[in-house]
Amino acid sequence: MGLNHREGDALEPINRNQLLRAAEDRFDLLVIGGGATGAGVALEAASRGLKTLLVEKHDFSAQTSSRSTKLVHGGVRYLEAAIKRLDRVQWNLVKDALHERAVFLRIAPHLAWKVELLTPLYRVIEIPYILTGLKLYEALAGRERIGRAYFLPPAEAKARFPQIKGEGLKGAVVYADGQFDDARMNLAIVLTALAEGAVVLNHVAAVGFLKEGGRVVGAELEDQLTGARFAARARMVVNATGPFVDRLRQLDDPEAEPLLVTSSGVHLVLPGRYAPAETGLLIPKTEDGRVLFVLPWHGHTLAGTTDEPAPVSEHPLPTEKEVDYLLRHLNRHFALELDRSAIRSAWSGLRPLVRDPRAKDTARLARDHVIVESKSGLVTLAGGKWTTYRKMAEDLVNYLDRTRELGLPKSHTKELVLLGGRDYDPAEEEELALLLDPDTAYHLMHTYGDAARAFLDFAKATGGLVRLVPGLPYLEAEVRWAARFELAETPLDFLLRRTRLAFLELEAARKALPRVTEILAEEKGWGPAEAERHRRAAEDWLAQAP
Ligand SMILES: Cc1cc2nc3c(=O)[nH]c(=O)nc-3n(C[C@H](O)[C@H](O)[C@H](O)COP(=O)(O)OP(=O)(O)OC[C@H]3O[C@@H](n4cnc5c(N)ncnc54)[C@H](O)[C@@H]3O)c2cc1C
Repeated sequence: MGLNHREGDALEPINRNQLLRAAEDRFDLLVIGGGATGAGVALEAASRGLKTLLVEKHDFSAQTSSRSTKLVHGGVRYLEAAIKRLDRVQWNLVKDALHERAVFLRIAPHLAWKVELLTPLYRVIEIPYILTGLKLYEALAGRERIGRAYFLPPAEAKARFPQIKGEGLKGAVVYADGQFDDARMNLAIVLTALAEGAVVLNHVAAVGFLKEGGRVVGAELEDQLTGARFAARARMVVNATGPFVDRLRQLDDPEAEPLLVTSSGVHLVLPGRYAPAETGLLIPKTEDGRVLFVLPWHGHTLAGTTDEPAPVSEHPLPTEKEVDYLLRHLNRHFALELDRSAIRSAWSGLRPLVRDPRAKDTARLARDHVIVESKSGLVTLAGGKWTTYRKMAEDLVNYLDRTRELGLPKSHTKELVLLGGRDYDPAEEEELALLLDPDTAYHLMHTYGDAARAFLDFAKATGGLVRLVPGLPYLEAEVRWAARFELAETPLDFLLRRTRLAFLELEAARKALPRVTEILAEEKGWGPAEAERHRRAAEDWLAQAP
């Protein structure tokens, strides 16, 4: 069939038309929504033998899943809450998430790595409290701990993170967590699901449900690129649309009570000089009692996040208030004076916070994920966090197995290394750095993993190692690669999610847009009018961003 894009060493392009035709078949499971949750479910289901179709309205990870803080973590502030409220459920959630952190780092070694985080302290009394808390956090991971929390005296803390204010500094506590590239991780899960036999389609929306005898038996789908509509039939349908789950639930049942409360989380991207290359900063207490992170990420500095009530929207944008909030806190902790001119990019993501209708205390928001089934059998999976996407998916497929008596084999996604990670050898980066510029070698290894060399051969055969924009590691050949092997269908798919260029350097992304469109037009066979339509759509999107 050729749906699996990697057979042996031969690279076979993914054929979208073939996938569209395959989607008209009958499936065991239809998954709606291609963020972390839906992609995780598709992989879990396909790897356990279910014939699975995954559809995503925009692109994989187009919404919340490409806009996270990019931490693979148990959540230190959740642990603090667990201890303060003697909340065993919360304690266990942190413990489970720390276990998932270990799995995550193991199955995606090219896309997730360890990062040390420094917490600067300006009051002596805070030192034992924070140090003990972080030691407990690491102890909770048991044998899966990835570091040891330790104290640094003021001079060493300042040397380690020179950007922080030295005045009044009493020291710092350092601990370790995981960090990752969320959109590339999402794509790796989708491509692995494809390799496991799932049919995966981006730019295809569910616009209605098919019902028989009051039961959901599939969905009416719409190809967003052509407007063509078709029906997909499935024995089971899962709604994994993140912030949009209530829209789908109400499409199924107009009476359905909303399950979600959404809030916006904004991040700013600053040049790399605002954080050392391998250490992040945890600001332990903001004005509104939250934590804030400043992290090195892809040669830049990522700072976030906020937590403001926000309506569900397809393109949430950072508000002036949120940007000011972040700059104000950074200036409070940084020795450097920061203003808006330092901002290279900024984005907002919507938190899908779930109110569990079965919870006794309805005022309390569920911090874990929930599985809710409607009268017609539509199963909604929502909540959780990126770190726990795999566990959420396993729970969901176990739920289907139990309630539908499917007799499925046990989950093995803890051992299923994602595409790109299987033969990944970090030492290869040094070898590549002898052949390429070090930034390109780093970028290729942490984007394609064990396929970095295959990509290089491909690049040489298709025009060489030409940079898309000077000073940044992205190559023209990556556009062709993304179009052929990674389901990139529009310039934004490439600029935002196959590479992270528009998330990091908005202006550079605007400059790269004409060339990216030109290459995609060659790859996809677009005529001048179609290419111009795609370029305009991307230009409008990039112009809206601050
Ligand atoms: C600011 C912020 C920071 C975060 N940081 C972290 C972190 O550091 N670590 C961590 O572990 N977690 C973090 N999280 C949480 C994590 O990002 C989310 O839990 C996760 O991304 C949610 O994924 P999802 O698939 O449920 O939702 P989404 O990623 O939003 O995916 C839902 C998808 O459904 C699609 N869709 C909607 N309607 C339809 C339709 N009709 N047909 C087809 N498709 C449809 C959408 O286009 C979308 O792509 C953060 C969240 C936020 C907001």
